[in-house]
Amino acid sequence: MVIIGAGIAGLAAAIRLAKKGFAVRVLEAGSQPGGKMSEIRKEGFRFDTGPSLFTLPHLVEELLEEKLSSKYHKLNLITRYFWEDGTLVNAWAEADKFALEMEHVLGVPASAVHKYLDEARFLYEHTAEMFIFNPVMSLKTLFSAAGLHALKALPRLKAFRSMHSYHEQCFSNPKAVQLFDRFATYNGSDPYKAPATLTMIPHLEHNLGAWFPQGGIYQIAQDLENKAKQLGVSFHHNEAATLIHFRGKKAYTVQTSSNTYETDLVISDVDIARVYDHLIPHKPLPMRYINRPVSSSAIIFYWGIRRTSPMLDVHNILFAEDYRKEFDALANGTLADDLTVYLFISSKIVKSDAPEGCENWFAMINAPYDRGQNWNELRLKARNIILSKVQRILGMDISKDILVEDYADPPLIAIKTGSWRGALYGISSNDPMAAFLRHPNKVSAFSNVYFVGGSVHPGGGIPLCLASAKIVDKLIKK
Ligand SMILES: Cc1cc2nc3c(=O)[nH]c(=O)nc-3n(C[C@H](O)[C@H](O)[C@H](O)COP(=O)(O)OP(=O)(O)OC[C@H]3O[C@@H](n4cnc5c(N)ncnc54)[C@H](O)[C@@H]3O)c2cc1C
Repeated sequence: MVIIGAGIAGLAAAIRLAKKGFAVRVLEAGSQPGGKMSEIRKEGFRFDTGPSLFTLPHLVEELLEEKLSSKYHKLNLITRYFWEDGTLVNAWAEADKFALEMEHVLGVPASAVHKYLDEARFLYEHTAEMFIFNPVMSLKTLFSAAGLHALKALPRLKAFRSMHSYHEQCFSNPKAVQLFDRFATYNGSDPYKAPATLTMIPHLEHNLGAWFPQGGIYQIAQDLENKAKQLGVSFHHNEAATLIHFRGKKAYTVQTSSNTYETDLVISDVDIARVYDHLIPHKPLPMRYINRPVSSSAIIFYWGIRRTSPMLDVHNILFAEDYRKEFDALANGTLADDLTVYLFISSKIVKSDAPEGCENWFAMINAPYDRGQNWNELRLKARNIILSKVQRILGMDISKDILVEDYADPPLIAIKTGSWRGALYGISSNDPMAAFLRHPNKVSAFSNVYFVGGSVHPGGGIPLCLASAKIVDKLIKK
């Protein structure tokens, strides 16, 4: 079989299908595995380029068939949240400690935080099996045990109210509302539009925990590629698929610029819009998926800086004062004048990621998906906003301390990973029906082609991409 794309879902599918006894060949356009989960090395600094927050490690453990507790570090402190007025909230992994911190710093009753996290747990535990680990909308699934279990959560799904309005009901402190609203961005959504169903996301961090691999996030992609190789999977890097040939509904060869591979099965980990555009041009993208709004993108600066920041941890957020304005600007395809800045510093854990006395900063802001905006201008604006926000909130003028600099923006993300319009998480989850509007992992138009990755069901983000490979594994019988 041929797998197109060695993103996290393509790697997971390769392992699963090789274990099932298939001879698996992976075609990857780039020189590295991992797709969006990539790395840059420059002058003694190493940067993870894409995902940084990693939850549900058992999904990787089951692929590698080993316990990761010795290789992956469980975070005690997940995120440090900073505001312009000097407020600082430490979001401890342990729910009790986090709830007490919210009470001490923001005056939010700890019981309100517990109630919120318990509800998040209820939603996740009742719906994940049905909506994340199964092909959605199959009648068989709807009437399965998972379907009936999910039915119990139906009255509490809150699909037709926004995350923000639900948070306002749960917390009277606007900073607490903003802190929990931010979880909408975990799949590129807008908290003022996204359904409150997404409030199950904090359950992953605060009830289950977040992890960090000893070698950085990119280690996950490397571990998966190594495991696949041990299972006999062959990798063809720098070899992009250009066309899938069909006889009727059946794919029989995959063409690249240098080879044509015969195959009995194809799994595509390529963004679904590009699959129909480039790889299966004889079949247009079905109408229901056309013009679906896509999730947000990002502008990221990778800065190697010659100083340290004792007040920061691995994951840090410097909040914008007017969050709604920030999301309104994104919806209009531009950037507000004040932005929420995410600072991810892996060298806090992985000491070799930066030279002695230095740190590797991944400074990211949410950006709109690419609609042909002037990205040079927007990037410069973002850079200035980040630097002045860091100076105002943290009292650090890092502009003269940047030794190494690189960046990513929506057009670059699109070029490097094949993602449609540079979106980080496929189609947007702002629509309450989004879970049903993603392209399925298998469609009847093709008898032996399957789809995995962030642009198809169940959606973007590492855990969901890994879940897509698990679903395809279930669908393919041997
Ligand atoms: C900046 C950023 C931050 C993020 N933060 C987080 C986070 O903190 N936590 C989280 O869980 N998720 C995060 N995500 C999302 C997460 O990274 C993605 O959802 C996930 O990695 C996507 O994996 P995928 O399997 O869909 O493949 P992708 O990573 O999209 O990779 C697709 C692969 O297919 C290859 N390809 C494309 N076309 C072809 C072709 N024709 N032939 C051969 N190969 C081809 C590409 O080169 C690429 O390697 C982030 C993403 C980004 C970009």
